[in-house]
Amino acid sequence: MKHKLAVIGYGGMGSWHCQNVATKIPEIQVKGIWDIRPEARDKARDDGLYVYSSLEELLEDDEVDLVTVAVPNNFHKELSIACLRAGKNVVCEKPVTMNAGELEEIIAVSRETGRLFSVHQNRRWDKDYRIVRKILEEGKLGSPYFIESRVQGSRGAMYGWRGYKVNGGGMVLDWGVHLLDQIMDMIPSPVVSVDAHLQRVFSGEVDDNIKLFVRFENGVSAVLEMSTNCFVNLPRWHVSCTKGTAVVQDWSCAGKTVQLREDAGEMAWDDDIVYTEAGPTRTMAPRPAYTTKEEALPEVTTDWSDYYKNIVDVIDNGAELIVQPEQCLRVMKVIDLIFESDRQSHGLACRI
Ligand code: NAD
Repeated sequence: MKHKLAVIGYGGMGSWHCQNVATKIPEIQVKGIWDIRPEARDKARDDGLYVYSSLEELLEDDEVDLVTVAVPNNFHKELSIACLRAGKNVVCEKPVTMNAGELEEIIAVSRETGRLFSVHQNRRWDKDYRIVRKILEEGKLGSPYFIESRVQGSRGAMYGWRGYKVNGGGMVLDWGVHLLDQIMDMIPSPVVSVDAHLQRVFSGEVDDNIKLFVRFENGVSAVLEMSTNCFVNLPRWHVSCTKGTAVVQDWSCAGKTVQLREDAGEMAWDDDIVYTEAGPTRTMAPRPAYTTKEEALPEVTTDWSDYYKNIVDVIDNGAELIVQPEQCLRVMKVIDLIFESDRQSHGLACRI
């Protein structure tokens, strides 16, 4: 039997969900949408979709067993809970909620109703992220100790509802939740401190240019950066490991790894001073070329649609849910601390 999906919110992401499911997930049929805006409903009709006359009509449609919530962030909690209580399985867009407390309420209702609840953390299937994961899993570069992950654009402010606090606007909740979800999914260790530098350069009330410093209990540190006013980008990923460095330049996944050659033997440090353009130095000079080797980044194949394939597999076959609400709760707890760290202007210890 095909699953029947209804989507709440037919804006940028809601329309993407409909299209993605219709073209890539044969096990799910898009039954219809609901949106509070008449223009969005007209657009959905033009796109050939059934448009519910109200949220209630959608919730009462017994054929629908899965609902995707793709509305501004401040409505995620009430709509997800309404759908769960109506007996639907629910996929909610990121950030799942405005804070950890709201997500705890959803998790309680999901347990009470026995319905599936998951969050569309689609960037766990991004190619750049999968490449970095694969490099760390292969272990050829040794152990990671410092990871820089950044996304940078140059279009300035946060637009539309993303510019307002009441809607859950700002960069922490927009992209920060993706970069945190990725790094916390990749590093198997509790977060033990967070230091947030949130700047509101163009957007008035919400953060639009941010740096987050996150420390894990196993010794790995990460810098996560999101800029809206950067005209010369730094690499998407820069990963320092004990035996080498990996760089993924951008979403096209240009990049390389440079690692120590195993056959080069121990490098003799002696007391040699290297003369660089900046004068003599021992520690800041590159190693001799014969001690290192450069490799292409590993190949990975990945597709955002795998998210929905997992949802189907969980409902039909009891497979393990990949994006679990408890993982998202860890991320939301870190996000709560990020706002607190910014308020207090210093780093905060934790164990999350
Ligand atoms: P959008 O403004 O393009 O669309 C939101 C739609 O929701 C609008 O059509 C609006 O009329 C409708 N809406 C608002 N309140 C509603 C309500 N109470 N009931 C029904 N409809 C309502 O926004 P967007 O870019 O599509 O973002 C929607 C959600 O998707 C946000 O949570 C955002 O963070 C998330 N998002 C996720 C990704 C991703 O890659 N996972 C990308 C973009 C957006």
